[in-house]
Amino acid sequence: MADIVCLGEVLIDFVSLESGVSLVEAPSFKKAAGGAPANVAVGLARLGHSVGFVGKVGQESFGDFLVNTLADNHVDVSGIARDHNARTMLAFVSLAANGERDFMFYRHPSADMTLTPAEIPEDLVANARIFHYGSISLISEPCRSATLHAVKIAKEHGAMTSYDPNLRLGLWESEKQARQGMLEGMRLADVLKINEEELEFLTGINDLEDGAKSLIDYGVSLVLITLGEKGCYFSSASGQEMVPGNPVQAVDTTGAGDSFVAALLSGLFEQNTLQQPFTVPEASILKGICQFANAAGAITSLSRGAIPSLPTRDLVEEFLAHS
Ligand code: ADP
Repeated sequence: MADIVCLGEVLIDFVSLESGVSLVEAPSFKKAAGGAPANVAVGLARLGHSVGFVGKVGQESFGDFLVNTLADNHVDVSGIARDHNARTMLAFVSLAANGERDFMFYRHPSADMTLTPAEIPEDLVANARIFHYGSISLISEPCRSATLHAVKIAKEHGAMTSYDPNLRLGLWESEKQARQGMLEGMRLADVLKINEEELEFLTGINDLEDGAKSLIDYGVSLVLITLGEKGCYFSSASGQEMVPGNPVQAVDTTGAGDSFVAALLSGLFEQNTLQQPFTVPEASILKGICQFANAAGAITSLSRGAIPSLPTRDLVEEFLAHS
């Protein structure tokens, strides 16, 4: 059984082959597996963990491609359901000159959205020591209920729960629903990872210390705020600290946050603190875990695509030794 289980969207990113052009202008695209929770699963497998993925894809070639990609990357795919009617989720993505992304989603509805509570592989989830999920699967029914059902099973069986909400306003009905839905996912999370933009959106606060404290009031034990090349900031009841990153010239930031999450969960897994209730490691240990996660994020931003640029443990250690 997998030690760590990730749940959520796995999709095909069609990435513009030209940088610095809009989706209107882009003439050609490369097909790549994507979806934040799926990237995290591959990131964890690459760091040497046994990991399973729960989600849903279409019963067609793109679904086969995604299942094969995860399986080739040593992720347990037994928890992936298939839909005979709805197609696999697609996203067209172009990279602006600064490496930031512009998205267009095909989800009308897509197979990931049709995941039901009955399709949750209860054994796989119940045996996980860490359970990770995002916010795209919380947008609509039935996958919202399926996600919450899985998180509850994981929690009841003593897993540490990890949540990485992604701000994709275009996928929600309104800004208010997005905020409420993203905050709802937080109530079951032990560990929360967000970026500065998400912090401000969720809390209305742009100060790291005050914003993180307001999130801890939701019952989250540990908040990590990623800050791009500046690194990250962690906050828990026992303290908070800024952990500077290793600035690099980003080529493509796709997957940097997911790589950070995979390395963070790997670091937390290595600690013997994964009892229920989850106990946050002491600040000096957390700092080391954040340095490892910062390095993983930096490496992923150095080359195109998410999955191809998720590092192995040796690569992260080598990067840290030379920075
Ligand atoms: P996201 O917004 O996707 O959550 P970020 O862009 O904040 O992610 O990046 C996640 C992490 O990756 C950062 O906290 C940092 O550790 C690392 N990172 C990202 N971009 C760079 C960069 N240009 N140089 C060094 N590290 C980076």
